Amino acid sequence: MKFNRAFAFLAMLFSLSTSVSGAEYKALIIDGQNNHGAWPKTTFMMKSYLEETGLFSVDIARTKYTWQGEDLLKKYPLEGFESTPKPKAEPDPDFKPDFSQYDVVVSNFGYGAAPWPQETQEAFIKFVKGGGGLVIVHAADNSFGDWKEYNQMIGIGGWGGRNEKSGPYIYLDDEGKLVRDDSPGAGGHHGSQHEFSVITRDKDHPITKGMPMEWMHSKDELYAQLRGPGQNMQVLATAFASPKHGGSGRHEPMLMVIKFGEGRVFHTPLGHADYSQECIGFKVSLQRGTEWATTGKVTQKVPDNFPTEDKVSVEKYEK
Ligand code: ZN
Repeated sequence: MKFNRAFAFLAMLFSLSTSVSGAEYKALIIDGQNNHGAWPKTTFMMKSYLEETGLFSVDIARTKYTWQGEDLLKKYPLEGFESTPKPKAEPDPDFKPDFSQYDVVVSNFGYGAAPWPQETQEAFIKFVKGGGGLVIVHAADNSFGDWKEYNQMIGIGGWGGRNEKSGPYIYLDDEGKLVRDDSPGAGGHHGSQHEFSVITRDKDHPITKGMPMEWMHSKDELYAQLRGPGQNMQVLATAFASPKHGGSGRHEPMLMVIKFGEGRVFHTPLGHADYSQECIGFKVSLQRGTEWATTGKVTQKVPDNFPTEDKVSVEKYEK
């Protein structure tokens, strides 16, 4: 009798502590070097988007030598962490996040980021290969052009020396068929920033299920002519890069999923600036994509204020 009551009390305490701690999954946003000066702010935007789901607690791991974004670093510092801005991206020999402590890693690195220490690269490969989730946002697909495994994880990327040796250009033709185009040329292009339609190509995937077949994204760079190995990759949504805005005239991949070993990768080329990431479409696809990368499922509902076929939907981030 006494034992039973004690047991019941302990069981109650246990359920209390798990519900109080709340978030089920641990996410890590990595950043520090990105030609997009908005990065110190967009890291905190993404952190708050993920925490808002109630599914994730979110930590940030940053290189001590930072590059670009100096002004916003003052406004959005990482508490308790000393950043040393450098005029050129410089390797940080101490950047060694313990990926194994996390369920999912979100990369907010960008064009020109210096290579990580070998040990960190190996730990990262091991993490994703072993079943860890990975989320690649916008310029994170510019990083590390000559790192083979990284290119396998992201499927396709741009800039960073990418060319025909990196793999084919991958896009959809007018019939919606995936094209792997081996023609020579540099990877990565965008025209002028504008609002554009995102077309859902797989309405049954957990990430896109319940999203409109077409929705208006707020002002952003429309990444085009990305290329890479593109193995074990599925394109969930595209956008037409209109020549009117200096685009490629192709249906370019916008939401992608890639399998790397046991790991799931969600890749979105959306999210150039803070105003691009204020789009509810960006926010919701990040939230759903991160959950999918973590568990293979999505339990969140697509909200009523999701953008429609002809109307953008934006929520100002004021912090
Ligand atoms: Zn950009």
